[in-house]
Parts: sequence; structure tokens; C-alpha cells
Amino acid sequence: MERIYIGMGSNLCAPAEQLHSAVQALAQLPRTSLAGMSSLYQSDSLLPGQPRYTNAVAALDTDLAPLALLDALQAIENSQGRERLERWGPRTLDLDILLFGDRLIDEPRLKVPHYQLQERAFVLYPLAELAPADLHLADGRSLRDLLKACPFVGLERLLQP
Ligand code: ATP
Ligand code: MG
Ligand code: MG
Repeated sequence: MERIYIGMGSNLCAPAEQLHSAVQALAQLPRTSLAGMSSLYQSDSLLPGQPRYTNAVAALDTDLAPLALLDALQAIENSQGRERLERWGPRTLDLDILLFGDRLIDEPRLKVPHYQLQERAFVLYPLAELAPADLHLADGRSLRDLLKACPFVGLERLLQP
């Protein structure tokens, strides 16, 4: 089993419910168990003019191969009405693989660690709730250093679980 972290985001159609549904779907993936879910956060959209996002991170332990997991995540996105009309457009559900054990993956369909992890407070802060305090990414960077360099700006931690 490998520990993986999934970044989740939604800004359409009851975002918090979208994330809770997604976690239930993740927990039911074959050869996979849910290890935890962070608090929910709200963040400003990367592009102006969209509703704010609701974000969270889920931790899973899986025996699935990385591309099989990506296929499964995209199937969950599609089943929750994800439409790809424009890059970074508003969406019911986005599921991104942030970390996959200690693997470095550089394939056309899959780059891990996620390429913009270090710039996204809405990924790093929920990830820090679940990950060990001394987590190091497969490329050697420490989560602690990434957090120090990424201020908690434009982000709001929501009170409900
Ligand atoms: P961003 O990647 O900047 O967060 P996005 O999540 O909106 O943008 P999507 O439309 O969800 O982008 O995905 C575009 C493609 O990114 C997917 O078809 C997938 O093949 C590819 N991809 C590459 N690396 C990853 C990853 N780590 N997790 C999920 N998808 C990835
Ligand atoms: Mg994304
Ligand atoms: Mg995505």
C-alpha cells in the first residue's frame, strides 16, 4: 500500500456536498482505503470572476497504480458532473493527485508531485493537517519549508468538519 494525498476543489453546485460525496466515492475505490480528510477551506479562484472554491485534502492508502488511480479520479469527477469547457474554469469537482508515496511521476497524463503544489495555500494547509510534520516530498522538498514560503492568504478554514 502507498499513502497518497488527493487535492479536492469545487465551486459549483453545493461545493461542500460535492467534496463529501467525492470522499465517499474515494473510500469505495478498489484496493484502497480512506486514511483521513482535512477540514474544508474556502479560497479565492485562481482566475478572477468565479465563485470562491471550497477545498480539502484526502489521504488514501492504495494498491492501485498511478494511472489507474487517475482514471478512477476522472470517473468520479465525471460522475459528479465535471465539464471541461475552459482551462481552470468553474467546476463541480476537481480531484488532483498531490503526492503518491515517494514516487516522482513525469508522464504525459500525470505529473507528481502536483506541479503547482508549492504555490497553492489551499493545497498546502489542508495537506499539513493530514501529513506527518516532517513530510518530505519525493523530490526532497519539505512540507514545512513549502508552508513557510506560502502565506495563508485568501484562504479561510471553515468550521464544519
Ligand atoms: P491544475 O492541474 O492546474 O490544478 P486542473 O486540475 O483544472 O488544473 P484538469 O482539467 O483537472 O486540470 O486536468 C487536466 C489534466 O491534468 C488531466 O487530464 C490529467 O491528465 C493531468 N494531470 C497531470 N498531473 C496530474 C495530477 N497530479 N493529478 C491530476 N491530473 C493530472
Ligand atoms: Mg486542479
Ligand atoms: Mg484536476
